[in-house]
Amino acid sequence: MTNHLLSADTQSLFDQYVVPNYGRYPINLVRGAGSEIWDSEGQRYIDFFPGWGCNLLGHCPPRVVEAVQKQVAELIHVPNTWLMESQGKWAEMLSVRSFDAMAFFCNSGTEANEAAIKLAKLHTSPERYKIISYTGGFHGRTFGSLTATAQPKYHEGLGPLMAGFEYAPFGDLEATRNLIDSETCGIMVEPIQGEGGINLPPAGFLEGLRALADEHELVLIFDEVQTGCGRTGEWFGYQHFGVVPDVLTLAKSLCGGIAGGGILTRRELAPSLRPGMHAATFGGNPIASAAGIATLETIEDEGLLQRASYLGEQFRTRLQQLQSRFEFIDEIRVAGVMIGIQLSVDGGPFVKACLEKGLLVNCTQGTVIRFLPAMNLSDDLFEDGCNLLESAFEQVAETLVTTHKS
Ligand SMILES: *Cc1c(COP(=O)(O)O)cnc(C)c1O
Repeated sequence: MTNHLLSADTQSLFDQYVVPNYGRYPINLVRGAGSEIWDSEGQRYIDFFPGWGCNLLGHCPPRVVEAVQKQVAELIHVPNTWLMESQGKWAEMLSVRSFDAMAFFCNSGTEANEAAIKLAKLHTSPERYKIISYTGGFHGRTFGSLTATAQPKYHEGLGPLMAGFEYAPFGDLEATRNLIDSETCGIMVEPIQGEGGINLPPAGFLEGLRALADEHELVLIFDEVQTGCGRTGEWFGYQHFGVVPDVLTLAKSLCGGIAGGGILTRRELAPSLRPGMHAATFGGNPIASAAGIATLETIEDEGLLQRASYLGEQFRTRLQQLQSRFEFIDEIRVAGVMIGIQLSVDGGPFVKACLEKGLLVNCTQGTVIRFLPAMNLSDDLFEDGCNLLESAFEQVAETLVTTHKS
């Protein structure tokens, strides 16, 4: 094994040379395998949040590693002025698993959403430019996606934002209807909100959006950057609801941990992204394509869609047991391996206690403990991780004596 710098030395490099736009734990992660990861001091962690949702197959999934190693020695990058067999094959694989869609590839979620926004504008008449999105949503950090992200904390100091974005409360059809006018071209929504706290859509909401989009000829965009590629137990989140979007955006887990993004669009809309109107230099490059194909093949061959659903139910059962023990757990929200624990108290101390015990988890919206575990998490690591979680909860509960039931 290579000699790694100790965390303290790496910290000093960051202090001196890296822009401080992230809150970072002072831990230097150096090696991962499946749902386990090690730091430079040799400490091992169970990872219930591998790669911020990007590592849907865990760390270093063997088939992705092999495909990338092979590809990188053959051809690293060629521009989209040429054909690439692997990009074509990858698009076909995504198409047959979705809605007979056509694909455009880019490198990240925010870029995928920018492409979708442009497509909605280009596909409708020129005077139509408004897009409706939802409170608590998250769509990315570039100006179009950022403006679509209806969370004021991300907008502070950055105005004026892009014109034409309007927000409705997530789940509110009536408010959506009231925002639609002759200038509206699209609706952008996560079928299940991720960053917003694993928020499931109320019954009939997505169906209602489809009906509104049809009635007013709007482009319905589902941001599946977090829900896509099998995380919820279906290839795509929309498949749980039987509501097919016009455009679907992907990134995070799309390439098994390698950077990659893309959109899937209904065939009829695709020609609106005509030559010259949009591009991504690295989009659909040979390495991302090879990794994307290997990711889909792994999920299929290892029966991981079923595994994701099964794990979701295991988590639900286990977390409901914790809920009956700890009064500060308000609600458990689960969609396959997309799991949120709604707390009535600050989630920060829980994340810290988990980390100290060797379990990596996330907290979003201040009070939601979020797991985006790998869909191939083993029974043993599920069990061990949940035990660490329980002991972390016990530890924090002692500091919250008033809310501890047993
Ligand atoms: C993470 C995320 C994005 C942004 O993806 P980036 O790759 O960071 O640009 C967009 N939408 C959703 C739903 C996400 O979870």
